[in-house]
Amino acid sequence: MNDFCNKYPSDNMLLYNADQYCRKIASINYGKNAKYFIETLGCQMNEADSEQLAGMLTDMGYSQAEDISSADIIVINTCCVRENAEFKLYGHLGELKILKQRNKELLIVLCGCMMQQSHVVDKIKNSYKYVDILFGTHNRQEFPELLFDSISEKKKIYEIWEESRGIAENVPVKRSSTITAYVPVTHGCNNFCSYCIVPYVRGREHSRHPEMIKKEIIQLASEGIKEITLLGQNVNSYYCGMDFPGLLHYISDIEGIERIRFLSCHPKDLSDDLIKAMVEIPKMCSHIHLPLQSGSNKVLQQMNRKYTKEQYLMLIDKIRASIKDIAISTDIIVGFPGETEEDFNETLEVYEKAGFDFAFTFIYSKRTGTAAAKRPDQIPEDIKDTRFARLVALVNDMTLASNIRDENKVLQVLTGGKSRTDRSVMTGRTSSNKIVNFKCDNDFTGHLVDVKIKKGHTWYLEGEKV
Ligand code: SF4
Repeated sequence: MNDFCNKYPSDNMLLYNADQYCRKIASINYGKNAKYFIETLGCQMNEADSEQLAGMLTDMGYSQAEDISSADIIVINTCCVRENAEFKLYGHLGELKILKQRNKELLIVLCGCMMQQSHVVDKIKNSYKYVDILFGTHNRQEFPELLFDSISEKKKIYEIWEESRGIAENVPVKRSSTITAYVPVTHGCNNFCSYCIVPYVRGREHSRHPEMIKKEIIQLASEGIKEITLLGQNVNSYYCGMDFPGLLHYISDIEGIERIRFLSCHPKDLSDDLIKAMVEIPKMCSHIHLPLQSGSNKVLQQMNRKYTKEQYLMLIDKIRASIKDIAISTDIIVGFPGETEEDFNETLEVYEKAGFDFAFTFIYSKRTGTAAAKRPDQIPEDIKDTRFARLVALVNDMTLASNIRDENKVLQVLTGGKSRTDRSVMTGRTSSNKIVNFKCDNDFTGHLVDVKIKKGHTWYLEGEKV
Protein backbone atom coordinates (compact mmCIF):
# COMPACT_ATOMS: atom_id res chain seq x y z
CA MET A 1 0.00 0.00 0.00
CA ASN A 2 2.88 2.37 0.77
CA ASP A 3 4.18 2.15 -2.80
CA PHE A 4 1.03 3.99 -3.79
CA CYS A 5 2.36 7.20 -2.17
CA ASN A 6 5.26 7.55 -4.54
CA LYS A 7 5.78 11.29 -4.69
CA TYR A 8 7.65 11.35 -1.39
CA PRO A 9 9.45 8.02 -1.02
CA SER A 10 9.79 8.51 2.72
CA ASP A 11 6.02 8.37 3.12
CA ASN A 12 5.00 5.43 5.21
CA MET A 13 2.36 4.46 7.68
CA LEU A 14 2.88 3.84 11.35
CA LEU A 15 0.13 1.56 12.50
CA TYR A 16 -0.96 2.45 16.01
CA ASN A 17 -0.03 -0.38 18.35
CA ALA A 18 -0.46 1.04 21.84
CA ASP A 19 -3.57 -1.00 22.71
CA GLN A 20 -1.65 -3.17 25.20
CA TYR A 21 -0.52 -0.04 27.11
CA CYS A 22 -4.06 1.37 27.04
CA ARG A 23 -5.37 -1.86 28.57
CA LYS A 24 -2.68 -1.83 31.27
CA ILE A 25 -3.43 1.78 32.24
CA ALA A 26 -7.19 1.13 32.07
CA SER A 27 -6.74 -1.69 34.59
CA ILE A 28 -4.76 0.65 36.88
CA ASN A 29 -7.56 3.23 36.54
CA TYR A 30 -10.36 0.69 37.04
CA GLY A 31 -12.92 1.91 39.60
CA LYS A 32 -11.07 5.19 40.21
CA ASN A 33 -13.22 7.50 38.05
CA ALA A 34 -9.99 8.97 36.64
CA LYS A 35 -10.38 12.21 34.66
CA TYR A 36 -8.41 14.00 31.97
CA PHE A 37 -8.26 17.62 30.92
CA ILE A 38 -6.74 18.73 27.60
CA GLU A 39 -5.90 22.35 26.81
CA THR A 40 -5.34 22.92 23.09
CA LEU A 41 -3.39 25.96 21.94
CA GLY A 42 -3.10 26.94 18.28
CA CYS A 43 -4.58 25.80 15.02
CA GLN A 44 -7.11 23.28 13.70
CA MET A 45 -4.33 20.74 13.17
CA ASN A 46 -3.63 20.86 16.92
CA GLU A 47 -7.36 20.49 17.60
CA ALA A 48 -7.37 17.36 15.44
CA ASP A 49 -4.29 16.07 17.29
CA SER A 50 -5.99 16.72 20.64
CA GLU A 51 -8.97 14.63 19.54
CA GLN A 52 -6.53 11.73 19.10
CA LEU A 53 -5.05 12.39 22.56
CA ALA A 54 -8.61 12.34 23.97
CA GLY A 55 -9.26 9.08 22.10
CA MET A 56 -6.17 7.45 23.60
CA LEU A 57 -7.01 8.75 27.10
CA THR A 58 -10.54 7.34 26.78
CA ASP A 59 -9.07 3.94 25.88
CA MET A 60 -6.84 4.25 28.96
CA GLY A 61 -9.93 4.48 31.20
CA TYR A 62 -10.04 8.25 31.69
CA SER A 63 -13.17 10.36 31.21
CA GLN A 64 -13.25 14.06 30.46
CA ALA A 65 -13.01 16.38 33.50
CA GLU A 66 -15.37 19.32 33.68
CA ASP A 67 -12.60 21.61 34.83
CA ILE A 68 -8.84 21.53 35.12
CA SER A 69 -8.81 21.31 38.94
CA SER A 70 -10.72 18.02 38.98
CA ALA A 71 -8.39 16.25 36.53
CA ASP A 72 -5.99 13.40 37.36
CA ILE A 73 -4.01 14.03 34.18
CA ILE A 74 -3.61 17.39 32.43
CA VAL A 75 -2.33 17.56 28.85
CA ILE A 76 -1.31 20.83 27.22
CA ASN A 77 -1.02 20.54 23.45
CA THR A 78 1.23 23.49 22.67
CA CYS A 79 1.63 25.84 19.71
CA CYS A 80 4.59 27.98 18.65
CA VAL A 81 3.23 29.74 15.59
CA ARG A 82 3.03 33.01 17.52
CA GLU A 83 4.67 34.29 20.66
CA ASN A 84 1.28 34.67 22.40
CA ALA A 85 0.69 30.94 22.35
CA GLU A 86 4.10 30.38 23.98
CA PHE A 87 3.32 32.94 26.70
CA LYS A 88 0.05 31.10 27.31
CA LEU A 89 1.90 27.86 28.03
CA TYR A 90 4.20 29.50 30.56
CA GLY A 91 1.14 31.16 32.15
CA HIS A 92 -0.54 27.75 32.45
CA LEU A 93 2.57 26.19 33.95
CA GLY A 94 2.35 28.53 36.94
CA GLU A 95 -1.23 27.39 37.54
CA LEU A 96 -0.22 23.72 37.12
CA LYS A 97 2.50 24.05 39.74
CA ILE A 98 -0.11 25.02 42.33
CA LEU A 99 -2.36 22.09 41.31
CA LYS A 100 0.60 19.69 41.53
CA GLN A 101 1.50 20.98 45.00
CA ARG A 102 -2.09 20.25 46.09
CA ASN A 103 -2.18 16.82 44.45
CA LYS A 104 1.13 14.98 44.19
CA GLU A 105 -0.52 12.21 42.09
CA LEU A 106 -1.54 14.66 39.36
CA LEU A 107 0.18 13.91 36.02
CA ILE A 108 1.23 16.83 33.83
CA VAL A 109 1.90 16.20 30.15
CA LEU A 110 3.20 18.68 27.56
CA CYS A 111 3.17 17.89 23.85
CA GLY A 112 2.76 19.54 20.44
CA CYS A 113 4.78 21.98 18.35
CA MET A 114 6.67 23.80 21.13
CA MET A 115 8.14 20.50 22.29
CA GLN A 116 9.88 20.08 18.92
CA GLN A 117 12.17 23.00 19.83
CA SER A 118 15.23 21.98 21.85
CA HIS A 119 15.52 25.33 23.68
CA VAL A 120 11.95 24.91 24.96
CA VAL A 121 12.55 21.33 26.09
CA ASP A 122 15.71 22.44 27.93
CA LYS A 123 13.80 25.22 29.64
CA ILE A 124 11.02 22.87 30.76
CA LYS A 125 13.50 20.27 32.02
CA ASN A 126 15.47 22.86 33.99
CA SER A 127 12.80 25.21 35.26
CA TYR A 128 9.54 23.24 35.37
CA LYS A 129 10.59 20.00 36.99
CA TYR A 130 7.05 19.10 38.03
CA VAL A 131 6.16 18.30 34.40
CA ASP A 132 5.95 14.48 34.12
CA ILE A 133 5.90 13.71 30.40
CA LEU A 134 7.03 15.53 27.26
CA PHE A 135 6.53 14.35 23.70
CA GLY A 136 6.42 16.06 20.33
CA THR A 137 4.30 16.19 17.20
CA HIS A 138 5.95 13.15 15.57
CA ASN A 139 5.50 10.60 18.38
CA ARG A 140 2.01 11.49 19.63
CA GLN A 141 0.87 7.90 19.01
CA GLU A 142 3.38 6.72 21.64
CA PHE A 143 1.48 8.54 24.40
CA PRO A 144 0.01 5.41 26.10
CA GLU A 145 3.41 3.72 26.22
CA LEU A 146 5.12 6.84 27.61
CA LEU A 147 2.39 7.27 30.19
CA PHE A 148 2.58 3.63 31.23
CA ASP A 149 6.37 3.86 31.64
CA SER A 150 6.04 7.05 33.66
CA ILE A 151 3.39 5.56 35.99
CA SER A 152 4.97 2.12 36.42
CA GLU A 153 8.55 3.31 36.82
CA LYS A 154 7.59 6.51 38.68
CA LYS A 155 9.84 8.64 36.50
CA LYS A 156 9.79 11.63 34.20
CA ILE A 157 9.70 10.78 30.49
CA TYR A 158 10.98 13.21 27.85
CA GLU A 159 10.74 11.56 24.44
CA ILE A 160 10.94 13.69 21.29
CA TRP A 161 11.46 12.39 17.76
CA GLU A 162 13.41 14.92 15.73
CA GLU A 163 11.77 13.86 12.48
CA SER A 164 8.57 12.26 11.35
CA ARG A 165 8.83 8.52 10.74
CA GLY A 166 5.49 8.40 8.93
CA ILE A 167 1.83 9.06 9.56
CA ALA A 168 0.24 7.17 12.43
CA GLU A 169 -2.99 5.49 11.34
CA ASN A 170 -5.76 3.84 13.35
CA VAL A 171 -5.16 6.08 16.37
CA PRO A 172 -8.37 6.23 18.43
CA VAL A 173 -10.17 9.58 18.20
CA LYS A 174 -12.70 11.21 20.51
CA ARG A 175 -14.38 13.96 18.52
CA SER A 176 -15.41 17.21 20.15
CA SER A 177 -18.44 17.60 17.84
CA THR A 178 -21.10 15.15 16.74
CA ILE A 179 -21.88 17.22 13.61
CA THR A 180 -18.60 18.40 12.08
CA ALA A 181 -15.14 16.82 12.02
CA TYR A 182 -11.59 17.57 10.96
CA VAL A 183 -9.84 15.00 8.78
CA PRO A 184 -6.10 15.59 8.28
CA VAL A 185 -4.96 14.72 4.75
CA THR A 186 -1.38 15.98 4.91
CA HIS A 187 1.05 16.51 7.76
CA GLY A 188 3.97 18.94 7.73
CA CYS A 189 4.94 21.48 5.10
CA ASN A 190 7.63 21.86 2.43
CA ASN A 191 7.18 25.55 1.70
CA PHE A 192 9.46 27.31 4.18
CA CYS A 193 7.73 30.67 4.14
CA SER A 194 10.38 32.80 5.79
CA TYR A 195 8.25 33.79 8.83
CA CYS A 196 6.85 30.35 9.58
CA ILE A 197 7.99 27.78 12.13
CA VAL A 198 5.72 24.97 10.90
CA PRO A 199 8.22 23.12 8.63
CA TYR A 200 10.70 23.01 11.54
CA VAL A 201 8.28 21.63 14.13
CA ARG A 202 5.92 19.52 12.02
CA GLY A 203 8.52 18.34 9.52
CA ARG A 204 8.37 17.72 5.79
CA GLU A 205 5.05 17.17 4.13
CA HIS A 206 3.54 13.69 4.11
CA SER A 207 0.24 12.75 2.49
CA ARG A 208 -2.13 10.24 4.01
CA HIS A 209 -3.17 7.30 1.94
CA PRO A 210 -6.57 7.99 0.28
CA GLU A 211 -7.97 4.66 1.45
CA MET A 212 -7.23 5.58 5.07
CA ILE A 213 -8.86 9.00 4.59
CA LYS A 214 -11.95 7.46 3.00
CA LYS A 215 -12.19 4.81 5.72
CA GLU A 216 -12.11 7.52 8.38
CA ILE A 217 -14.81 9.58 6.64
CA ILE A 218 -17.08 6.52 6.19
CA GLN A 219 -16.71 5.90 9.92
CA LEU A 220 -17.53 9.55 10.66
CA ALA A 221 -20.64 9.36 8.46
CA SER A 222 -21.77 6.23 10.32
CA GLU A 223 -21.46 8.21 13.57
CA GLY A 224 -23.74 10.95 12.21
CA ILE A 225 -21.12 13.55 11.19
CA LYS A 226 -22.54 15.81 8.46
CA GLU A 227 -19.63 18.06 7.54
CA ILE A 228 -15.94 17.32 7.20
CA THR A 229 -13.00 19.69 6.86
CA LEU A 230 -9.97 18.20 5.15
CA LEU A 231 -6.89 19.61 6.85
CA GLY A 232 -3.35 20.26 5.71
CA GLN A 233 -0.86 23.13 5.87
CA ASN A 234 -1.27 23.22 2.08
CA VAL A 235 -3.92 20.76 0.91
CA ASN A 236 -3.13 21.63 -2.73
CA SER A 237 0.13 19.74 -2.62
CA TYR A 238 -1.57 16.54 -1.43
CA TYR A 239 -0.35 13.62 -3.48
CA CYS A 240 -0.65 9.94 -2.80
CA GLY A 241 -1.43 8.20 -6.08
CA MET A 242 -3.98 10.95 -6.69
CA ASP A 243 -3.85 14.71 -6.29
CA PHE A 244 -6.13 16.83 -4.11
CA PRO A 245 -8.91 17.34 -6.70
CA GLY A 246 -8.74 13.57 -7.29
CA LEU A 247 -9.08 12.98 -3.54
CA LEU A 248 -12.14 15.26 -3.41
CA HIS A 249 -13.83 13.20 -6.14
CA TYR A 250 -12.73 9.96 -4.42
CA ILE A 251 -14.50 10.88 -1.14
CA SER A 252 -17.39 12.85 -2.61
CA ASP A 253 -19.96 10.07 -2.71
CA ILE A 254 -19.86 8.99 0.95
CA GLU A 255 -23.45 8.74 2.06
CA GLY A 256 -24.36 10.86 5.07
CA ILE A 257 -21.66 13.49 4.54
CA GLU A 258 -23.50 16.59 3.35
CA ARG A 259 -20.67 19.11 3.20
CA ILE A 260 -16.95 19.07 2.42
CA ARG A 261 -14.54 21.87 3.28
CA PHE A 262 -10.78 22.13 3.20
CA LEU A 263 -8.10 24.21 4.86
CA SER A 264 -5.58 25.68 4.04
CA CYS A 265 -4.77 26.39 0.45
CA HIS A 266 -1.52 27.95 -0.84
CA PRO A 267 -2.26 30.34 -3.74
CA LYS A 268 0.81 29.16 -5.69
CA ASP A 269 -0.60 25.64 -5.92
CA LEU A 270 -4.31 26.26 -6.46
CA SER A 271 -5.06 24.47 -9.72
CA ASP A 272 -7.78 24.75 -12.34
CA ASP A 273 -8.64 21.14 -11.49
CA LEU A 274 -9.41 22.17 -7.91
CA ILE A 275 -11.73 24.94 -9.09
CA LYS A 276 -13.39 22.42 -11.45
CA ALA A 277 -13.83 19.92 -8.60
CA MET A 278 -15.46 22.62 -6.47
CA VAL A 279 -17.92 23.28 -9.29
CA GLU A 280 -18.58 19.61 -10.09
CA ILE A 281 -19.00 18.21 -6.57
CA PRO A 282 -22.30 19.39 -5.09
CA LYS A 283 -21.15 18.75 -1.51
CA MET A 284 -18.27 21.22 -1.75
CA CYS A 285 -18.89 24.27 0.42
CA SER A 286 -18.87 27.62 -1.32
CA HIS A 287 -15.93 28.93 0.64
CA ILE A 288 -12.22 29.04 0.06
CA HIS A 289 -9.56 30.23 2.49
CA LEU A 290 -6.64 31.58 0.49
CA PRO A 291 -3.90 33.21 2.61
CA LEU A 292 -2.62 36.40 0.96
CA GLN A 293 -0.27 37.47 3.82
CA SER A 294 0.81 40.72 2.13
CA GLY A 295 -0.19 42.87 -0.85
CA SER A 296 3.36 44.04 -1.55
CA ASN A 297 5.35 42.09 -4.14
CA LYS A 298 8.57 42.97 -2.33
CA VAL A 299 7.27 41.58 0.97
CA LEU A 300 5.73 38.53 -0.73
CA GLN A 301 9.09 37.73 -2.27
CA GLN A 302 10.86 38.15 1.06
CA MET A 303 8.24 35.94 2.68
CA ASN A 304 9.08 33.28 0.06
CA ARG A 305 5.42 33.04 -0.94
CA LYS A 306 6.18 32.48 -4.66
CA TYR A 307 3.33 34.57 -6.12
CA THR A 308 2.80 38.25 -6.88
CA LYS A 309 -0.17 40.39 -5.95
CA GLU A 310 -1.15 40.45 -9.64
CA GLN A 311 -1.15 36.64 -9.83
CA TYR A 312 -3.12 36.45 -6.60
CA LEU A 313 -5.78 38.88 -7.85
CA MET A 314 -6.05 37.00 -11.16
CA LEU A 315 -6.64 33.81 -9.17
CA ILE A 316 -9.39 35.51 -7.19
CA ASP A 317 -11.04 36.65 -10.44
CA LYS A 318 -10.85 33.13 -11.84
CA ILE A 319 -12.38 31.60 -8.70
CA ARG A 320 -15.22 34.13 -8.59
CA ALA A 321 -15.93 33.71 -12.31
CA SER A 322 -16.11 29.91 -11.94
CA ILE A 323 -17.82 29.33 -8.60
CA LYS A 324 -21.11 31.09 -8.01
CA ASP A 325 -21.51 32.88 -4.66
CA ILE A 326 -18.12 31.74 -3.38
CA ALA A 327 -16.94 33.37 -0.16
CA ILE A 328 -13.21 34.02 0.00
CA SER A 329 -11.33 34.54 3.24
CA THR A 330 -7.67 35.15 3.84
CA ASP A 331 -4.82 35.58 6.33
CA ILE A 332 -2.84 38.82 6.53
CA ILE A 333 0.39 39.43 8.46
CA VAL A 334 1.18 43.00 9.46
CA GLY A 335 4.68 44.22 10.29
CA PHE A 336 6.86 41.66 8.48
CA PRO A 337 10.54 42.81 8.76
CA GLY A 338 11.26 45.64 6.36
CA GLU A 339 7.58 46.37 5.64
CA THR A 340 7.33 50.07 4.74
CA GLU A 341 4.29 52.31 4.88
CA GLU A 342 3.98 51.89 1.09
CA ASP A 343 4.10 48.09 1.41
CA PHE A 344 1.38 48.19 4.04
CA ASN A 345 -0.78 50.53 1.94
CA GLU A 346 -0.47 48.05 -0.93
CA THR A 347 -1.81 45.33 1.39
CA LEU A 348 -4.86 47.48 2.16
CA GLU A 349 -5.30 48.16 -1.54
CA VAL A 350 -5.12 44.49 -2.52
CA TYR A 351 -7.44 43.58 0.34
CA GLU A 352 -10.07 45.96 -1.04
CA LYS A 353 -9.58 44.83 -4.63
CA ALA A 354 -9.89 41.16 -3.69
CA GLY A 355 -13.21 41.92 -1.95
CA PHE A 356 -12.59 39.42 0.83
CA ASP A 357 -15.56 38.24 2.86
CA PHE A 358 -13.54 37.86 6.05
CA ALA A 359 -9.97 37.54 7.24
CA PHE A 360 -7.73 36.38 10.03
CA THR A 361 -5.28 39.14 10.85
CA PHE A 362 -1.96 38.72 12.60
CA ILE A 363 0.83 40.91 13.86
CA TYR A 364 4.15 39.46 12.67
CA SER A 365 5.68 37.40 15.44
CA LYS A 366 9.41 36.68 15.39
CA ARG A 367 9.98 32.91 15.54
CA THR A 368 13.43 31.71 16.51
CA GLY A 369 14.90 29.49 13.79
CA THR A 370 13.08 31.08 10.85
CA ALA A 371 14.81 33.16 8.15
CA ALA A 372 12.79 36.32 8.92
CA ALA A 373 13.72 36.23 12.61
CA LYS A 374 17.38 36.84 11.70
CA ARG A 375 16.62 40.08 9.83
CA PRO A 376 17.87 43.27 11.44
CA ASP A 377 14.99 45.41 10.08
CA GLN A 378 12.30 44.26 12.52
CA ILE A 379 9.38 46.69 12.72
CA PRO A 380 8.86 48.54 16.05
CA GLU A 381 5.84 47.32 18.04
CA ASP A 382 4.03 50.69 18.00
CA ILE A 383 4.15 50.83 14.19
CA LYS A 384 2.92 47.24 13.94
CA ASP A 385 0.07 48.08 16.33
CA THR A 386 -0.98 51.18 14.36
CA ARG A 387 -0.96 49.28 11.04
CA PHE A 388 -2.82 46.39 12.62
CA ALA A 389 -5.59 48.71 13.85
CA ARG A 390 -5.94 50.18 10.35
CA LEU A 391 -6.13 46.73 8.79
CA VAL A 392 -8.70 45.49 11.33
CA ALA A 393 -10.89 48.56 10.64
CA LEU A 394 -10.87 47.75 6.90
CA VAL A 395 -11.47 44.03 7.49
CA ASN A 396 -14.42 44.75 9.79
CA ASP A 397 -15.98 47.21 7.31
CA MET A 398 -15.67 44.74 4.44
CA THR A 399 -16.90 41.80 6.52
CA LEU A 400 -19.96 43.83 7.48
CA ALA A 401 -20.53 44.81 3.82
CA SER A 402 -20.28 41.14 2.79
CA ASN A 403 -22.80 40.16 5.47
CA ILE A 404 -25.19 42.95 4.47
CA ARG A 405 -25.08 41.59 0.90
CA ASP A 406 -26.56 38.35 2.28
CA GLU A 407 -29.66 40.13 3.64
CA ASN A 408 -32.92 38.73 2.19
CA LYS A 409 -31.17 35.67 0.79
CA VAL A 410 -32.32 32.20 1.85
CA LEU A 411 -29.21 30.29 2.92
CA GLN A 412 -28.79 26.70 4.00
CA VAL A 413 -27.47 26.47 7.55
CA LEU A 414 -25.97 23.44 9.26
CA THR A 415 -27.07 23.94 12.85
CA GLY A 416 -24.56 23.32 15.59
CA GLY A 417 -26.99 23.69 18.49
CA LYS A 418 -28.72 26.24 20.68
CA SER A 419 -26.98 29.49 21.48
CA ARG A 420 -25.25 29.40 24.89
CA THR A 421 -26.59 32.82 25.81
CA ASP A 422 -30.16 32.49 24.50
CA ARG A 423 -31.78 29.03 24.41
CA SER A 424 -34.50 30.24 22.03
CA VAL A 425 -31.84 30.90 19.37
CA MET A 426 -30.15 28.27 17.21
CA THR A 427 -26.74 28.82 15.74
CA GLY A 428 -25.06 27.28 12.72
CA ARG A 429 -22.94 27.94 9.67
CA THR A 430 -23.69 28.63 6.03
CA SER A 431 -21.89 26.87 3.22
CA SER A 432 -19.84 30.10 2.97
CA ASN A 433 -18.75 29.48 6.60
CA LYS A 434 -20.62 32.43 8.08
CA ILE A 435 -22.27 32.13 11.49
CA VAL A 436 -26.07 32.43 11.44
CA ASN A 437 -28.28 32.87 14.51
CA PHE A 438 -32.01 32.35 14.17
CA LYS A 439 -34.96 32.10 16.57
CA CYS A 440 -36.43 28.65 16.75
CA ASP A 441 -38.60 26.79 19.27
CA ASN A 442 -37.65 23.33 18.06
CA ASP A 443 -34.20 21.82 18.28
CA PHE A 444 -32.72 21.35 14.80
CA THR A 445 -29.22 20.49 16.00
CA GLY A 446 -27.30 18.67 13.26
CA HIS A 447 -29.86 19.47 10.55
CA LEU A 448 -29.54 21.52 7.39
CA VAL A 449 -32.24 24.18 7.50
CA ASP A 450 -33.13 27.05 5.20
CA VAL A 451 -32.86 30.43 6.88
CA LYS A 452 -33.84 33.80 5.45
CA ILE A 453 -31.23 36.38 6.41
CA LYS A 454 -32.82 39.41 8.02
CA LYS A 455 -29.75 41.33 9.07
CA GLY A 456 -26.02 41.17 8.47
CA HIS A 457 -23.84 42.07 11.47
CA THR A 458 -20.04 42.21 11.47
CA TRP A 459 -19.56 38.83 13.15
CA TYR A 460 -22.73 36.97 12.24
CA LEU A 461 -25.95 36.89 10.26
CA GLU A 462 -29.34 37.06 11.90
CA GLY A 463 -32.15 35.15 10.25
CA GLU A 464 -35.49 33.43 10.37
CA LYS A 465 -36.20 29.79 9.56
CA VAL A 466 -38.31 29.43 6.39
S1 SF4 B 1 2.72 27.21 3.56
FE1 SF4 B 1 4.14 28.65 4.51
S2 SF4 B 1 2.89 29.60 6.13
FE2 SF4 B 1 1.84 27.73 5.55
S3 SF4 B 1 2.59 26.18 6.97
FE3 SF4 B 1 3.88 26.04 5.13
S4 SF4 B 1 5.63 27.36 5.60
FE4 SF4 B 1 4.04 27.87 7.07
